[in-house]
Amino acid sequence: MTATEIVTVNDRVYAWPKVPAIAICLDGCEPAYLDEAIDAGLMPTLKAIKERGTVRTAHSVIPSFTNPNNMSIATGRPPKVHGICGNYLYEPETGEEVMMNDPRFLRAPTVFKTFYDAGARVAVVTAKDKLRALLGHGLKFDDGRAICFSSEKSDTATKAEHGIDNASEWLGRPVPEVYSADLSEFVFAAGVKLLKEFKPDVMYLTTTDYVQHKYAPGDKEANDFYEMFDKYLTELDALGAAIVVTADHGMKPKHNADGSPSVIYIQDLLDEWFGEAAARVILPITDPYVVHHGALGSFATAYLPAGVDAAETCARLAAIDGVTVAVTKAEACERFELPEDRIGDIVLVSGENITLGTSEDRHDLSALNEPLRSHGGLTEQAVPFIVNRAMADLGDAPSLRNFDAFNVAVAAAALGGDAVEAAE
Ligand code: ZN
Ligand code: ZN
Repeated sequence: MTATEIVTVNDRVYAWPKVPAIAICLDGCEPAYLDEAIDAGLMPTLKAIKERGTVRTAHSVIPSFTNPNNMSIATGRPPKVHGICGNYLYEPETGEEVMMNDPRFLRAPTVFKTFYDAGARVAVVTAKDKLRALLGHGLKFDDGRAICFSSEKSDTATKAEHGIDNASEWLGRPVPEVYSADLSEFVFAAGVKLLKEFKPDVMYLTTTDYVQHKYAPGDKEANDFYEMFDKYLTELDALGAAIVVTADHGMKPKHNADGSPSVIYIQDLLDEWFGEAAARVILPITDPYVVHHGALGSFATAYLPAGVDAAETCARLAAIDGVTVAVTKAEACERFELPEDRIGDIVLVSGENITLGTSEDRHDLSALNEPLRSHGGLTEQAVPFIVNRAMADLGDAPSLRNFDAFNVAVAAAALGGDAVEAAE
């Protein structure tokens, strides 16, 4: 055991955990999913935790997408500090759109790296591999104190690069399909085994929103997912860990009455106003896994041609039904704490039941086999924030953020553990 009592990460002070501190990011967990599953009697452990622990709502960062929020949870800070504001980045200098999942885009150390450097044992399991390099950045795997792998690529994990050889074999579970609930179940199962055997001081478990993009709160498939999660939560809780359950963002239906996606095609509009391809619309939700959302979300940024007035363009866009925010870069970066050099000239957010697209012919919607559900805007900002300990003085949304998860988890873990004491 180390003598360290506090750790400072990105100018925030963190307590040293006396029992394992775990943050669980349930991807796309609109709070209603938990309410419905609890009401159906499928989450007895979460229900009990809500009664004896602390229940809050937190706000995600905007854009309410996966990577910006996961990296905020991992660093304890908004995108302005860590730099990851989407899956995609447009570099005006090169005219290229590049994936932002390379660690070279990350501008702040993670909680995991800082705790590892301070002597802690650290474990990170992500469903999709796209997040692994970012989450694991700065960890060293040569002394057996760090593990970081994805379900998706679990069979190719190596001790040198992930802290574990073939995690799929280690867990005794085959590599799940990338579009499946199993990809997330693998994360939970690994978390339980790691807690028992690896005994991390700090652990992060982050899932995929495949189920949430397809199914509404209360649907059988959604309830099945949360019932499955509750079984693993039961084990994690019983092992004495301090746990924060939160989400990267919520999820809302974004389709028309006939089931077709509800979309405003911004590139088509800007082409009409300023000429073909004069402006460039970037949808930061775009990633290689578009099957479940067709790259349609509720946040867009656009680079405008020289000479076009950004404020005037915002006023025109704000007049469109369904556009709820249309602001200049400066306003957006101030309001949403975004890095100025990675955002276009204007930022747009759409309403609860409508998305923003580029051009109609550029979205492949053929794989959308359920009416579109998605996220990205302010209407998906409210997420659950549940702690399995009674925490005094914990605020609530809007001041409580999902990226307070580790700060709260280690504070709860610094209190010690009821279940551990009871078991002794
Ligand atoms: Zn997500
Ligand atoms: Zn999603």
